[in-house]
Parts: sequence; C-alpha cells; structure tokens
Amino acid sequence: MTMTIAIIGAGMAGIACARVLHEAGYAVNIFDKARGPSGRMASRRHELGICDHGAKYFTARDPGFRQQVEQWRQHGAVSAWQGRIDVWENGSITANNDHIQRFIGTPRMSACLRHASSDLPVRVGLRITALQQDDDLAWWCYDHQDGKHGPYSLVLGAIPAPQAAELLPRQHPFQGALAEVRMAPCWAVMLWLDAEVATSWDALRLKNHPVLDWISCEHRRPGRGGEPRVVLHANPEWSQEHVEDDPESVTVALRSAFSEIIQAPCNPVAQSAHRWRYARSVDCLGKPCLFDPASGVGLAGDWCLDARIEAAWLSGTALGLIASQHTGALS
Ligand SMILES: Cc1cc2nc3c(=O)[nH]c(=O)nc-3n(C[C@H](O)[C@H](O)[C@H](O)COP(=O)(O)OP(=O)(O)OC[C@H]3O[C@@H](n4cnc5c(N)ncnc54)[C@H](O)[C@@H]3O)c2cc1C
Repeated sequence: MTMTIAIIGAGMAGIACARVLHEAGYAVNIFDKARGPSGRMASRRHELGICDHGAKYFTARDPGFRQQVEQWRQHGAVSAWQGRIDVWENGSITANNDHIQRFIGTPRMSACLRHASSDLPVRVGLRITALQQDDDLAWWCYDHQDGKHGPYSLVLGAIPAPQAAELLPRQHPFQGALAEVRMAPCWAVMLWLDAEVATSWDALRLKNHPVLDWISCEHRRPGRGGEPRVVLHANPEWSQEHVEDDPESVTVALRSAFSEIIQAPCNPVAQSAHRWRYARSVDCLGKPCLFDPASGVGLAGDWCLDARIEAAWLSGTALGLIASQHTGALS
C-alpha cells in the first residue's frame, strides 16, 4: 500500500508539487501555518479595499508555466496587468519600456493558488514544528498545537530555506546546501488614503532610493476597485537594517518617503505594516529542488532557482515529478 505524502507549505511551490502528485494518483496532506494557501502571494483584507502586500506580479517564460497561467486566466483567477509602471531614479521619473508581460491574481494575488488547491486537502492554521521518523521509516509531523499527523512515506517541505533548516534534523544531508542559501527581508506598508493619488503611474519601481523600491496604487490593479490605497515596499538594504524595528516606526519612515516621492502630504485613514522576514532569495541553490530517497525528504521553493513566483512553480513541479517517480517505484 502506498502511504500518504506530507507537504509543508501551501505557497506556489507547495501547491504546484501537490498538484503533480495528486494528478499522478498519490494521496497528499498539505499543511500551512497561514489562514489559506498564498505564502508570499498574500493579500491583506480591509473594508476599504484589499492590498497585495507580498508579490507584486509575476512573469511567465517557461512553456509549462505559461500553459498553467493561461488555464488560470481562463478561470478568471489571473489577469494580465497592463498598468503603467514608471521608474524613479535619482529624483527623476521615466516611463518603463520593458514590454514585459505581467500577470496578477484576480481579485487578489492568491486567487490562482486558491483555485489550484480547491480540490486538495489543505490544513491551514497549523505550523509544523517537528518531524520524526519511526522505526519503519515512516514520517510523522507535529504541529504547534501538539497534533501528530502521519504516517507519511515522504515529507516534502515547500518553505523558505532557513525555515526548512530549522525543521529538518540537524544531521540531515540537506543542511549543508541550506546553509548556502541566503534570503533577504522586506518591509511592506499598506496605506488606505483619504484621496486619490495624483500620479500618472499606477506603480513605480525605485532604483537607488534610500528607502523604497516599489510603490503600487492597489485600487488601479485589475479586478480590485475600492478606495484609494497604496502598497510600499522598502528595499532589501533598508529592510535588513530595520528588520527588528517596530511596525509603527517603519510605517512612519515609509510613509514619509512616499510623501516625498509624490510631493504631497499623505493622509491615511488606515495603515498597516508587514515584515517579510524571508522575502527574496539572494543566493539560490542553483538546481530545481532537493530530494533524498534514503531519508524520504524533499525540498522545493523559489530559493532553489530564483526569487520569482515562476521559479517557485518550477521548483514545486520538479519535486512533485521526482517524488512521484520515487513513490511509484516503491508502490
Ligand atoms: C514583498 C515581496 C515582493 C515580491 N515581488 C515579486 C514579484 O514582483 N514577482 C515575483 O515573481 N515574485 C515576487 N516575490 C517573490 C514570490 O512571492 C516568491 O518567489 C514566491 O511566492 C515563493 O513561493 P514559495 O512557495 O517558494 O514560498 P512561500 O510563498 O513563502 O510559501 C511557503 C509557505 O510555507 C508556509 N510555512 C512555512 N513554514 C511552515 C511551517 N513550519 N508549517 C506550516 N507552514 C509553513 C508559509 O506560511 C507559506 O505559506 C515577492 C515576494 C515578496 C515577499
């Protein structure tokens, strides 16, 4: 009898991995500590309008991912984003002419993951705190509420590398590779405003700005609507320097930088800050995933290939394929 496979993490990599295994006929159990499948493609709900405070958009170059995105688009879970994205550099703003095709989830960034996981058993609100292998080499997952889940033939982690390193046994063969991966933080601030932002751009990419690297007018993104609001992302250097600051002081700093850029006062009616401790992969693994048939452990995530949603999908898909071949050989 083939046992169920545990997948920890319901971001793009985890859901992509689960889909491959599910479609190949394997039973999977997916766990995520958040309230729903989204990971870094998360949004903050508010009565004045939703804000995508994680990933801004995604691109699709790989033919398989393009096909997947087209399927989501046909289901209304993804739209092409043709908003005007200008570039700020040394105080001047110029038009962005990169002609890159960008996509966003609709009506929120995570919509494609919600769609992709609608027929999968995802257990949300459960943080897996420990893994244990028994004498029969079956894996058991323990959660933060002392729940015990299993037995599993394989345990696949689709979580940021530093979190995978914490979860795996100290002597596990993946620890060396995980120690080489570096991920940078990002502070995000959401501002719900009392008036429209008087800019011709819908989003601004900032180069060499001391604080910010991204501003997005969220109410102008496809399928959003609602009251005027912006998401501000601090650049990796600023975020690292202020990683332990309190959300209030971070909000003040980012708000003031925003005000300076738009050369107008900014009066939020509501505001919120979120720290992404592991936002962007800086030094990646350089291969699609890690899989160790001897211990029955696999790992995937954007950090394997590149700091992008597409890379997370490619990584999760690769792990799903390798794991299904291995499990097929066992069954
Ligand atoms: C601010 C920001 C801006 C970005 N902008 C872009 C962009 O413009 N374009 C782009 O392509 N990419 C962008 N990215 C990167 C993109 O979001 C990621 O590459 C992608 O979402 C990573 O997916 P993942 O599945 O590898 O990891 P994640 O999305 O991080 O998923 C991991 C999941 O594991 C869960 N988890 C972790 N530990 C545990 C545990 N112990 N137990 C249970 N669950 C656990 C987490 O809750 C999470 O849901 C951005 C990211 C951030 C933060």
